Formats: sequence, structure tokens, C-alpha cells
Amino acid sequence: MAKLGDWIDPQPSGIYIPSADAWVDPSQPVPRALVTHGHADHARGGHGEVWATPETLAIMETRYGAQTGHPVAYGETMRLGEVDISFVPAGHVLGSAQIILDHKGERIVVSGDYKRREDPTCAPFEVTPCDIFITEATFGLPVFRHPETHDEIDKLLTALRANPTRCVLVGAYALGKAQRVIGELRRMGFDDPIYLHGAMQRLCDLYVELGVELGELRPATGVAKKELEGRIILCPPGALNDRWSRRLPDPITAMASGWMRVRQRAVQRNVELPLILSDHADWDELTRTIREVAPREVWVTHGREDALVHWCSIRQIKARALDLVGFEDEDD
Ligand SMILES: [Zn+2]
Ligand SMILES: [Zn+2]
Repeated sequence: MAKLGDWIDPQPSGIYIPSADAWVDPSQPVPRALVTHGHADHARGGHGEVWATPETLAIMETRYGAQTGHPVAYGETMRLGEVDISFVPAGHVLGSAQIILDHKGERIVVSGDYKRREDPTCAPFEVTPCDIFITEATFGLPVFRHPETHDEIDKLLTALRANPTRCVLVGAYALGKAQRVIGELRRMGFDDPIYLHGAMQRLCDLYVELGVELGELRPATGVAKKELEGRIILCPPGALNDRWSRRLPDPITAMASGWMRVRQRAVQRNVELPLILSDHADWDELTRTIREVAPREVWVTHGREDALVHWCSIRQIKARALDLVGFEDEDD
């Protein structure tokens, strides 16, 4: 009998599907790419043709220029070679998808990156039963249990209100995390204008164009210091301690990332106010998802594979670690 999933070929540079002659999230330019979402470690420039959700394609065009893109809406099915392919929400960032591959009577779901918590800026993760579930494991250790989003945003608002002559400068990745922080603040009733570093502007504008409400956003550059007192300002992590931030009114340095759970990471970045806010599943979300998806096999990639493989094996779920390269930088 043929081995389960023998029609896909996971390679270090991506998952190759010979019967569709296409790759999922390839780290090198390829003729035909299926892309789960817009983060740079999954969506590269330079592919021949790209199949992705309309939102992911729009993000790729914003970052890399025009694409030979084929938009595939959530729930739509298309055929490439001998494989039926559809995209369902992954709950990670706007447009993020799990890619469902159907061939030879088997179903494989490639999760891309995902989370199970609510996110006002993207569609929620959909559980899709399948034979093989290829899951990420960025936070795949039992020590990673993300706190309640509400409590982290509350910390931010408390610091802001306790320091009316300072500003809170929040480091956040420009795709996904920045908009999520804004969306969560709005959800908690924070209506003040939020100020943006120039590098955040394009993707925030794109989110708004694609229908995500972010409230009033203003550029932080060219604004009098006095106006920025008592304000929230968002910047890329790299700008937290650089020259740019020196012109702000005594900033409280914050950073929104799942890695803020690790004290050393907060110290490295001189972060006074770590906000543990992740767009990836934590340990409980990973294990809950595997239980709900109930696949025959779990293939683990993109992070701490060993603990999750072990968790599966003691529950009689066949599991293996895949050896993909090129992940991490933008994802947290
Ligand atoms: Zn990733
Ligand atoms: Zn990602």
C-alpha cells in the first residue's frame, strides 16, 4: 500500500506537490507558488505565478510590486494538475489561509501560521478534518501560554493614562501585529488618534482599503513633540531605540510580540513594557487544534517541533518533524 501523503514532497525550501507542479510557501522563486499569507518568510517576491487569497496578493503587490496572481477566495476550490486546492482562514493575519490539498482520496491541510484567538483584523481559523495536518509550532513548548489579549491591552492603556506627559511607543511588525494592536485598542473603546511611524503607513492603509476599520491614524513624523504627549505611537521593532524615537516625548518603550514572554528578549530590546501579544497559536491552541482536526498524521514544522511530535506520539497520533528552512524573522 502506498504511504499516506506520498504525493507531496516536503523539501527544506518548501513543500513541493509534483502532481500540481507547484510549491507551498517556497523560500526560493519558483514557477508556480501557493502562498498561505503575506509575511516575508512565506511570501517571497519573484515567483512565476502565485495562487493566494485576494488579500495576500494585495499585500504581496504592496511589498514586491505587480504579481502574476490568481486570487482564490476562502472556500473556493480550483484544480492544478491533478490536485484540488482550496484556501480556508487561518486566523493569523489579514488574508492568511490554510491550504487544503485533495488528491488520491487523501486530504492534506497545510496550516501556514495560525492562531485560535479572536482577532478583529482577520477571519477566524476554521477547523478542517483531514488525513495529514501540517502544523506550525512557533510556540510549540508547554511554557508558551499566551495571556489574555484584553489584559495586555489593558496594561498598555494603564501605562498611557498614568503618564500623561510621556508617550507609549509600541514596537510591532508592520504586517499584522501593528493592525492587530490598533484593532484591539479600538475594541476596548480607545478612540484617540493613533500615531504611526512612516514604515507602518502603507500596510495600515491597505488594511483599511480591504475593509478593516482602524479608526483615526496620523503620521508621527513632522508632529510637534507636545502633540505626542499622552499618545500611542506604533513603530517597527527596529525603530524602538534608534534616532527616530529620540524626538518623542520621553517614550515608554513597549513591544507587542509573543516572544515578550521571554524576559531576555525584552531586555535585549530595552523594552520597559513587554506586551505578550502573538499571532501564533500557543501550546494549548496547538494541542487543541490537533485534537479538533483529528488527522491520521501530524507533520510539524516552523519552530519547536520536538515537543509537539512527542505530545502526539504519547497519544498514538503518528507525527514527524519536517525540516523546512527560511522561517522566523517577521513572525511572532
Ligand atoms: Zn511564519
Ligand atoms: Zn506569519
